[in-house]
Amino acid sequence: MSEETPDLVDRAERALLALSGGRTRQCSCEELLENLMEFLDSELDEDTCTRYRQHAAECPTCHQATDAERHIREMVRRSCAEKAPSSLRLRVESQLAVLRVTGIRAVD
Ligand SMILES: [Zn+2]
Repeated sequence: MSEETPDLVDRAERALLALSGGRTRQCSCEELLENLMEFLDSELDEDTCTRYRQHAAECPTCHQATDAERHIREMVRRSCAEKAPSSLRLRVESQLAVLRVTGIRAVD
């Protein structure tokens, strides 16, 4: 009589995998893009930031998205403007919307 049920082992392994991080790539695309502003504003806790940063480094979709937003922020800072020109922001936002759909689908 064994106390080990395959189901329990499976669940434990999954939990460990989640804790070790770095292998949960598929599920963080959507999450990262949802929280992109907070991420770049450093409003998230360190754990989440690290996870997102790692993900963005490996995932072309999220890399592109964070890069685009970071670029805007840099430009805004340099020009000392209060906010990005609405035309530019609109363009980037529509680009992000496309990335959200196509990027996530592609990973699937
Ligand atoms: Zn991603």
